[in-house]
Amino acid sequence: MPRILDGSRSGACLAYRGGVHTLPLARSVVDRAAHRRADPGLLAEVWADPRTLVLVVHEGRLPLADDGARLDLRAPSRLRGLRPGEGGAVWVFLGQCDERPYLAVLLADLPVEPGSLEGVAGNGDDVGSWSARVRWGRLRDVGHALGDRDADLATTAVALAEWHARHPHCTRCGAPTRPEQAGWVRRCAEDGTEDYPRTDAAVIMAVTDDAGRILLAHGAQWPPHRYSTLAGFVEPGESLETAVRREVAEETGVLVDEVTYVASQPWPFPASLMLGFRGHATTTDVAVDGKEVTDARWFTRDELSAALRAGEVLLPMRTSIALALIEEWFGDTLPAGPSPATI
Ligand SMILES: [Zn+2]
Repeated sequence: MPRILDGSRSGACLAYRGGVHTLPLARSVVDRAAHRRADPGLLAEVWADPRTLVLVVHEGRLPLADDGARLDLRAPSRLRGLRPGEGGAVWVFLGQCDERPYLAVLLADLPVEPGSLEGVAGNGDDVGSWSARVRWGRLRDVGHALGDRDADLATTAVALAEWHARHPHCTRCGAPTRPEQAGWVRRCAEDGTEDYPRTDAAVIMAVTDDAGRILLAHGAQWPPHRYSTLAGFVEPGESLETAVRREVAEETGVLVDEVTYVASQPWPFPASLMLGFRGHATTTDVAVDGKEVTDARWFTRDELSAALRAGEVLLPMRTSIALALIEEWFGDTLPAGPSPATI
């Protein structure tokens, strides 16, 4: 069944649960408690709290419990060797949920590489032996399988990890910056400029014609047979609706009039917010740009079913809003495609 507007999931820590919170990476249930970030002692205080759990993020990878559907969150006492203010790692206060505070620690390097036999000899409570033993996965691969709390924690932590890694210098003078506000701000050491995490708006759209067909495209960088909805970044000085019409026209030559917002979800690879739309096509002739898009086709539901069965088409991965948009149009669950690193 169409899943985008299904608001029936449980497990919320926040009181409000609207109808569009069930996209895999849009399940915001953790109270970010942003008012606490200004306290300079917050990270040390939360680290010392026996209720606290810590999410370790290493180069965008997440530690997974054995079933692969839960994060391997650790009490601070079970991450010996890691502590806020020591060793240069960035710490982030993610918020609280069910009376429990959550931290993330963003590591550029692990003390012991995953799978290293040398590290397995530890007792399990030092970060080196743990990091060697634990299974690591990427958010785009496992986000849909995680529960609400874990998906929320992981999405925020990965987004901030990408931002910290890409913004080591002041946007004004180029001097080094350092984290403040419990990991939510970076401040320049020279002139005090504050840099805040950025999110890039991107539109993604299920374009349909008067015959009820959907327009799916193949990107130049994608693996063979992958087809998905069109998408693109919003340009400066442009509305979301204009961006939808421009991207569709540029990449396929198809013209769109009516544009309807559906839902959004963060896509922190590295910093996108995907804004999902439906678009109504007024033309159907396809002329791809040959650069970003090398093929685009109209599909009826029967044609898409047949192409999937024949292996001629692979859809996007389950974590994506693209698959949710396609399934909403189709009216049923469809087989998700693999998650290649290039997408
Ligand atoms: Zn500066």
